[in-house]
Amino acid sequence: MRKILITGALGQIGSELTAEMRKIYGSSNVVASNRSMKKGHEELIESGPFEIIDINDPVTLSAAVDKHKINTIVNLAAILSAIGEKDPQQCWNINMNGLYNVLETARERNCMVFTPSSIAAFGPSTPKDNTPQETIQRPNTMYGVTKAAGELLCDYYYKKFGVDTRGVRFPGLISYKTLPGGGTTDYAVHIYYDALKNKKYTSFIRKGTYMDMMYMPDALSAIIDLIEANPQRLMHRNAYNVTAMSFDPEMLADSIRKFIPEFELLYDVDPIRQEIADSWPNSLDDSAAREQWDWNPKYDLQSMTKDMLEKLRVKLD
Ligand code: NAD
Repeated sequence: MRKILITGALGQIGSELTAEMRKIYGSSNVVASNRSMKKGHEELIESGPFEIIDINDPVTLSAAVDKHKINTIVNLAAILSAIGEKDPQQCWNINMNGLYNVLETARERNCMVFTPSSIAAFGPSTPKDNTPQETIQRPNTMYGVTKAAGELLCDYYYKKFGVDTRGVRFPGLISYKTLPGGGTTDYAVHIYYDALKNKKYTSFIRKGTYMDMMYMPDALSAIIDLIEANPQRLMHRNAYNVTAMSFDPEMLADSIRKFIPEFELLYDVDPIRQEIADSWPNSLDDSAAREQWDWNPKYDLQSMTKDMLEKLRVKLD
């Protein structure tokens, strides 16, 4: 039976993954954790076991794994791209030293580890269109450096120690429950809030900048399906390209105008996040994930926009 520990569980992904996994595996089998409490997550904290764990503190981490007899660690604790460029030292410390602690704990206690990578693991010299599963990875942001190095470290622990490590390269994730934690694709979440509140949005990403994106329900399926995938079919492990759609701010605005015709899109480009976006792929080739563990996203741009606007309308009322 799976006993799962989720680190960074109060973030954008974890807050939804915890609820989904508790439905599937049973509340008592899914331990949520974060380095600190955060307001607005009372329901999650009360719906099952919760621990304060900083992944940079290996003693607390391994004690929680022992206490709850954990056999699967989903490591979501991290510093994301835009914040990582403001504080690269902290980004390295959490994304690399924290990951090392998770992998060591898993090696010593025979746990499976799922860690998400990102489209940020690519860089300006990576082929931009239909970016292959295996290609040039020379990222030029600290976040990207930690994601590319993290993929290698996870593969090393699999090959050297037999730790069952698995991961995906997530694109920008769009969701309505918890706001994103300081990434470059955050504009694609904020735009829906402002569309409903003000009928206009000022984008920090330039017109014509294409990036891969995915709606949160598909991201949750990717994590759970890869964790449950038959290991004999997995040729890549860390980390699989996954994507659901690729768009620029204009395409996103057009999809919103089908529901809010007067919606206006303005631009005030942030040079730091624009430079990060320009270094990332326009679109990924996710055929390895489709072939090896049947990855098949359900939402496209239009069905995501419809659902986001419906759900956010209720939330903001
Ligand atoms: P987030 O910033 O929303 O959440 C991260 C959580 O980790 C926060 O609750 C934070 O308090 C916690 N945290 C930070 N440092 C910690 C530490 N030392 N110990 C314990 N907890 C700590 O991030 P997210 O969007 O949920 O992302 C989760 C993972 O998915 C990250 O590895 C991220 O790189 C990856 N990812 C996310 C996206 C996206 O669009 N959200 C895209 C690609 C990859």
